[in-house]
Amino acid sequence: MSEEKKIPYKIYLEESEMPQKWYNVRADMKNKPAPLLNPGTHEPMTAAELEGVFCQELVAQELDNENPYIDIPQEIRDFYKMYRPSPLVRAYCLEEKLGTPAKIYYKFEGNNTSGSHKLNSAIAQAYYAKKQGLKGVTTETGAGQWGTALSMACSYFDLDCKVFMVKVSYEQKPFRREVMRVYGADVTPSPSETTDVGKAILAAHPGTTGSLGCAISEAVEVAVKNPGYRYVLGSVLNQVLLHQSVIGLETKAALDKYNIKPDVIIGCAGGGSNLGGLIAPFMGEKLRGEADYRIIAVEPASCPSFTRGVYAYDFCDTGMVCPLSKMYTLGSDFIPSANHAGGLRYHGMSPVLSQLYDDGLMEAVSVEQTKVFEAAEQFARVEGILPAPESSHAIRVAIDEALKCKETGEEKTIVFGLTGTGYFDMVAYEKFHDGQMNDYIPTDEELAEYRKHLPQV
Ligand SMILES: *Cc1c(COP(=O)(O)O)cnc(C)c1O
Repeated sequence: MSEEKKIPYKIYLEESEMPQKWYNVRADMKNKPAPLLNPGTHEPMTAAELEGVFCQELVAQELDNENPYIDIPQEIRDFYKMYRPSPLVRAYCLEEKLGTPAKIYYKFEGNNTSGSHKLNSAIAQAYYAKKQGLKGVTTETGAGQWGTALSMACSYFDLDCKVFMVKVSYEQKPFRREVMRVYGADVTPSPSETTDVGKAILAAHPGTTGSLGCAISEAVEVAVKNPGYRYVLGSVLNQVLLHQSVIGLETKAALDKYNIKPDVIIGCAGGGSNLGGLIAPFMGEKLRGEADYRIIAVEPASCPSFTRGVYAYDFCDTGMVCPLSKMYTLGSDFIPSANHAGGLRYHGMSPVLSQLYDDGLMEAVSVEQTKVFEAAEQFARVEGILPAPESSHAIRVAIDEALKCKETGEEKTIVFGLTGTGYFDMVAYEKFHDGQMNDYIPTDEELAEYRKHLPQV
């Protein structure tokens, strides 16, 4: 038996080895992410202003660029123990199938009912809302992963949960909607007549099937107008990346147990939360000059914020009620082609990752969706797990990197984030099987048109 095979298929941590603190990569960044700006005055948002929309403790985390470690409260660690530590899997079967000398590992976050990593932040946000004595929280959801995770977290802490779900998903994806209702959430299709911004959007665009940006505006309005409610968001924000650092900390602890040093770390990027979490401790070492890693963000060719967007202040939502955020963006009214089925549809990207990318500390690639689903199936057939389309963006690039190693003979160690399962995405798989999926890539002219609407800051 070779030295290699001593590494088990799954590296688990003991409960006692689970992280007790989140890691805040901003503390080690020389160039900090740009502050959120008030959309009216273009001045940096103060804590007091932000506390009208977000929970107090979460605002403190959002603005904290200094403290590298933040305690994970015991209540959250206890909840984490129900579905964490998540396994770090050595993809022996995939390696063999590919015939690659590369060593491939993936961190699997799909082992909970919500089916993705989003629960890691949902439970933290619900905890701080409860601790503040709030009645409930509002949010938006697209296909439903975030709404599902938040519903679970809110029911655990006995909080009211109001979810605005993009109308097209509400109608076409009833399963996640019903999971949310199992956990007691109140789910409204967006745009709706229940908010001023919803009414305005419906008046301007009758028959619209909604968008994430529009659902965000509605959720924020309801939070601001109802005493005892705050708005919570499942990605993009600094606080969300902080909570998701639990993924990277566990990954690093598992690798360290076997003295494994990754060469390449790969993750899919929608708003950037799973990738930001996975890479956090590795990026920290890189920023402190202790180690070097190649870090790759993978995004859809039909929603290419990093690879074809601009680094600028932009609106986070269509209704323009949220603070302005400096990020790689395609413009806040960008909506991917109707044929796009792979998720990761948000027009912008985490300000933390945007700054790191701008500083040349990480790379980004975009991939076409049929190639993503090919990789998803190749993976499912050897590793067993049916991956979410979002996660499969990372699988695609991990396979591509492993195949490059096959050509060069390099025995690189590749780690990627497998963010979730795809059981509720079978309509997308069906499109792929039936040859109804195309690889529409926006033209430069189209992207330039969306960019015209960026705010002048
Ligand atoms: C939401 C989601 C993503 C993308 O969100 P990030 O904030 O970029 O991590 C990726 N994978 C799955 C399974 C998701 O549900």
